[in-house]
Amino acid sequence: MSEEPTRTLIAGNWKMHGLRAQLDEIDAMACSVRERPGNLDVLVCVPATLIARAVQAADGLIAIGGEDCSAEEAGSFTGDIDAEMLRDAGATSVIVGHSERRRWHHETDAIVAAKAKAAWQQDLATIICLGETGAQRRDGNALKVCGEQLAASLPTIKAGARISIAYEPLWAIGSGEIPTRDDIVAVLGHLRAALDTRFGSAARSIRMLYGGSVKPGNAREILDTPHVDGMLIGGSSLLAVEFNAILDIARERSPAVNCPLAQDKLS
Ligand code: PEP
Repeated sequence: MSEEPTRTLIAGNWKMHGLRAQLDEIDAMACSVRERPGNLDVLVCVPATLIARAVQAADGLIAIGGEDCSAEEAGSFTGDIDAEMLRDAGATSVIVGHSERRRWHHETDAIVAAKAKAAWQQDLATIICLGETGAQRRDGNALKVCGEQLAASLPTIKAGARISIAYEPLWAIGSGEIPTRDDIVAVLGHLRAALDTRFGSAARSIRMLYGGSVKPGNAREILDTPHVDGMLIGGSSLLAVEFNAILDIARERSPAVNCPLAQDKLS
């Protein structure tokens, strides 16, 4: 695993949204990166049906990822999509363990860990999601729950694997509510300490993202929060006008330093 200093990652998650007509949004996002590159990694995770076309629209300027992958390799798993298929379609990243997969598809931490391993086998960068429910936070268990999810959802890291951990409190996703700065610092600091204890210096290149109701209006405050290396964005990644506004804010934090665009190496 490399120990390069982390670059900010701004990642979108389209969920079950997106038809061919929406690829104009990817095109407009790519234009923004072409005009104002910044020292950022930009990724949009789209439904599998759109990956190949989104890669074309992104024109090498933003990385395209999948939203989930099977823990299995090719076989009799009707309707599932494996990591090799994502890679074959042009994806360079994948989200695993999103709370909507955990909730609606009953994915356990062990399944999430197996999916991360399958993704690494195909050299896909992975965003591993975790976060507490509103009830768990009210009961004072947010740190415990997130720490346990991290321990069980993140396998022993593979040399060269590109990993981000996305802290996405379930009560913040799509709700318009976000945790306080202190609460984000507490959770991400707890997770960072756990990674350091478990993996030592090899954990340094693991990025810590915040996700949940990120908008242009709160992106600056979130990006300025200690331990935040980037953001995972749902609703505000669907429209280029909003996503590009967030990219502009992130560029102010990480201005261009004469870096070549190498989005194929993402993210
Ligand atoms: C998400 O689902 O990953 C997410 C962060 O959604 P939203 O930004 O819409 O809250």
